Amino acid sequence: MIKYIIIIIMVMAALYGLYKLYLPKKAAQEFSYNQQTMTKNALLVPIAILGGGPAGYAAGLYGARAHVHTVIFEGPYPGGQLMKTSHVENWPGIQKQLGSDIMKGCKTQAESFGAQIAPYTVKKIHTDSWPYKLTLLDGSEVFALSVIIATGASPRKLTIPGEDKYWGSGVTTCAICDAPFYKDKSVIVVGGGDSALEEAMQLAPYAKDIMICVRGESFRGAAAMIERLKQYPQIHTSFKTKVLEIKGTGTLVNAVTLEINGEKVERAIDGVFLAIGHIPNTSCMPEGMRVDSLGHIIISSESRETSVPGIFAAGDVSDHRYRQAGVAAGDGIKAALDAIAFVGSTGFIEKDNKKILYSPNKEGMYTALEHILTTAEYEQKIAQDNKLVLLDFYTTACPSCMRMMPIVERVVFEHKDAVVGYKVDAFVGAELMKKFVVPGVPTIVVIRNGNEIARTKDTMTYQDFNAFITEFIK
Ligand code: NDP
Repeated sequence: MIKYIIIIIMVMAALYGLYKLYLPKKAAQEFSYNQQTMTKNALLVPIAILGGGPAGYAAGLYGARAHVHTVIFEGPYPGGQLMKTSHVENWPGIQKQLGSDIMKGCKTQAESFGAQIAPYTVKKIHTDSWPYKLTLLDGSEVFALSVIIATGASPRKLTIPGEDKYWGSGVTTCAICDAPFYKDKSVIVVGGGDSALEEAMQLAPYAKDIMICVRGESFRGAAAMIERLKQYPQIHTSFKTKVLEIKGTGTLVNAVTLEINGEKVERAIDGVFLAIGHIPNTSCMPEGMRVDSLGHIIISSESRETSVPGIFAAGDVSDHRYRQAGVAAGDGIKAALDAIAFVGSTGFIEKDNKKILYSPNKEGMYTALEHILTTAEYEQKIAQDNKLVLLDFYTTACPSCMRMMPIVERVVFEHKDAVVGYKVDAFVGAELMKKFVVPGVPTIVVIRNGNEIARTKDTMTYQDFNAFITEFIK
């Protein structure tokens, strides 16, 4: 009997040994690069970075500087959340600078080392085989040896009556974009964190009355920001205050129903600015990737690697705790160093694979829309055109506008026989803003024979916007 037990133990030990020996080899084989396995005409990116915020650009800088072919798929919000902030004073090494300028600098620096910027969005990462397939929003595909997910987070909504109805017509998450439309108006800012404090201060030069509605009993933001509020007599705070409903005239917000200390109160206001935190952008994530209870991508305790080998995460998409631009940049650097090591471990030699490396087409091939500023200019242009006319109202500080602009340019370019497009800078085209009653940006107005026939305030994908416009040129 003892003899049999010893034999069974020896067999099990041998099997365990074989298992230990075999597994790493299998994993190594699975991630060992072999050009023969690449499908004909397939294009390859050794380091694909998803997201053009501080994490994405920092990762791009390190990837490219290590001479690894690196492509940053900027996604729908080039520049990320810093594009919405005004001055940043906690980016190490810089005393005070506009968030958008810091991001421009990060992008330029990454590009100067050879990182390629793709103004596209990756819709999905597929991990059933390696190199991993990435599907872009326009349906095209590229393959990646390693991926860094740096897609950031999107503003959370209240999900209360009236919010969707008046989205973009009085309800917004971007004070720096829309503040000038609220000159001498009354607004509320919802939230008690740094974003809410900052939104209120961005509104201060314009709005006559700003009430910050905090659901709790105190702010969550930094002491320095709370202290700074004292400089603004037009900003008031209402604690223990919930927003129950947003009301309006059908096209514009004119009131909110609040619950203050448990009591329902109706308040006349013109705008609602939401600053109630963010939700991680994980829709591109492959099936089965591990996330925490709040939806953030879980990474290893040792590195930035996710639960899928060769895929790394950086910035707010994987950070529910710090959520600082500087931390995101640091994460991006770590993720790039991990990705460089991973690519190196696959045996991939870049110089032998130059022909199949993916480089993005430059969206600049679409002609930029012509500017118009005054009603007289508009009348003159429209008089000459019996085509469908698109007026794209924008501001350069508005990330959603910057996302929509190339899409509008592309659609106008592709339908140039039937469609003509113009852009109106909302800060200087006040006359046209008034004529078309544009309460916020982006707003794209569709005109036929001098009459408005439709408009959209949503940020759309190329496919959706193209489908929207095609309806009118059938
Ligand atoms: P935070 O998560 O810090 O704050 C969110 C706020 O929204 C909290 O007060 C929260 O209330 C409130 N909230 C959440 N959900 C709701 C809801 N459904 N209804 C009403 N209120 C709600 O997010 P922020 O965007 O303000 O900040 C994110 C990070 O970015 C932070 O780390 C912050 O420091 C940083 N940041 C830094 C800036 C700077 O340094 N210049 C500027 C902006 C942001 P409650 O507290 O009750 O949960």
